[in-house]
Amino acid sequence: MDVIFAKTLIPAGIGILFAIWHSFADALAWRIYAAYYSPQRKSIPQKVSFIFSQSSVCEYCAAKVSWLGLIPVAGFFLVGRRCQNCTRPISWRFPVFEALAFVFGLCVGSMNTAPLEFAVILVAYLLLWIVINVDYRVLLIPTEAILGLLLLGIFNLLVVRYPQWFLFNNFDLALDLAVSFVWYFFFHLLRILSGYKMGLADVRLVLALGFLLGHPYAMYLPGFAAALAIIFYLLRRRSLLIYAPSETQIPFGVFLGIGYLLLYLVRGWAA
Ligand SMILES: [Zn+2]
Repeated sequence: MDVIFAKTLIPAGIGILFAIWHSFADALAWRIYAAYYSPQRKSIPQKVSFIFSQSSVCEYCAAKVSWLGLIPVAGFFLVGRRCQNCTRPISWRFPVFEALAFVFGLCVGSMNTAPLEFAVILVAYLLLWIVINVDYRVLLIPTEAILGLLLLGIFNLLVVRYPQWFLFNNFDLALDLAVSFVWYFFFHLLRILSGYKMGLADVRLVLALGFLLGHPYAMYLPGFAAALAIIFYLLRRRSLLIYAPSETQIPFGVFLGIGYLLLYLVRGWAA
């Protein structure tokens, strides 16, 4: 009984937790986008209270979403895939990404994750979803999200992974820092060589995700993210249904974020 409990119920529970957490992160990301980056941002003077003290609303008519519609994945079908006020169809991205978050949580739940490590991935997921959302819509990354990820990365290194860091005798910590900073400086160089086409936020994001991922996986992250970006743009050339914020600029933060989440799973399975 205990084995069954550990092998199925815990991962399922963490999967559901991630689906709910995703739906919260998505609402927060949308409000941050609306208050600071959207064309309607000037009509929202009370930005902080708009972001934190609001119930979920329809994207078109701003009608409050009923509690039924707030249930991850199932809510979309329970309300008949339409807003109950203006009857406009609700985007499929809500149930699809909530289902993906459930699968991500299922995978995290099947690993042996210590409580502190679990707290780090929860916060990282929230901040990354904000980065991915805003970068994909307007090619900008909120500085607060990058700062949060950097602080989380430092916390991950000094408290979670290497609590004995002050002895300065841990080779793994030295390697984690080396890999993160080599990519950081390399991205600075890339930014200059590309004529400042890449944002400073992308450069800082590489450093933060290096701190969070550690070696050897952080070594693969930029290459992996670039491969994801190339696949995305090849798919986009075949289908006009895929939205891209720009024809010439790539929202690299999106692919760094997705790359991190996938490599996090690979790291967990390999351990
Ligand atoms: Zn509506």
